[in-house]
Amino acid sequence: MDMNLTDKVVIITGGASGIGAETARMFLNEGSKVAVFGRTQSKIESFSESIKKEGYEVFVDTADTKNMKSMELFAEKVVKKYGGIDIWVNNAGIEHYVPLASCDEDKWNEVIDVDLTGVWKGSKIAIPYIAKRGGGSIINLSSFCSLMPTAKNGIYSVAKAGVNALTKVMAAELAPQHIRVNCVIPGFIATDMTVEQIGTIEDMLLQPISMRKFGKPEDIAKGIVFLASDNAGYINGHALVISGGKFLVQNSQDPWNNYMGGY
Ligand code: NAD
Repeated sequence: MDMNLTDKVVIITGGASGIGAETARMFLNEGSKVAVFGRTQSKIESFSESIKKEGYEVFVDTADTKNMKSMELFAEKVVKKYGGIDIWVNNAGIEHYVPLASCDEDKWNEVIDVDLTGVWKGSKIAIPYIAKRGGGSIINLSSFCSLMPTAKNGIYSVAKAGVNALTKVMAAELAPQHIRVNCVIPGFIATDMTVEQIGTIEDMLLQPISMRKFGKPEDIAKGIVFLASDNAGYINGHALVISGGKFLVQNSQDPWNNYMGGY
């Protein structure tokens, strides 16, 4: 089935690493025109260089999801270069590991600002452009923490739960403009964000995952590209869980280890 993504203009926020970078590659492979922003000049430049070596072109520039003006300017540059915007992926995200009771206001504000408010700001900028094209798609990066919060990662869990609600509300509000809004809920994916945890508590992290392995950025990118495509044309306000079957049951590892016998 044709994805119908050729020449579609895609913006990916914070897309120079991990899930965002792999999503950029997958859209490029589908013939889309891809634009990525990040906060650090050197990081986005080296991403652009690596994409060039793979035979593609990606438009990159600096912008920060905490700063609405910088995102508006980026969108204007993309429209000038590619003629419009069809798909916007709110991918940028951060986390601060700290118990809620001892977390200071700066940390709280920063995570909420990037992970939740940044999604609203990005969408707000994208909407008139996508509407002008007659419709399109917004995809938000949520997290398994939105379904089952993580102790000491409370701000992130709260922000991502907010993303799920925002996705549903915007999906309903934007349907008359033919803009579908969905989110993906990654389980545990091996990226810069998680490398430290994988290095220290790998066994504990694998325990609830039925498939007994971490996801790869491309596992999530495939879901994002699908949701943006015509194949998902009747999917709106959905949260697509891509987690290798995390917390399907209380004893995810029993089928592997046969603790209880009976097979
Ligand atoms: P990552 O750290 O590689 O990617 C996040 C990107 O966002 C980085 O490039 C970072 O520089 C950028 N960024 C952060 N703050 C920004 C800002 N204010 N403005 C612009 N860019 C900013 O990690 P990732 O795992 O690829 O994360 C991508 C998304 O997936 C995030 O929203 C994250 O919360 C979500 N997610 C990841 C996992 C996982 O296990 N890796 C699980 C659930 C959800």
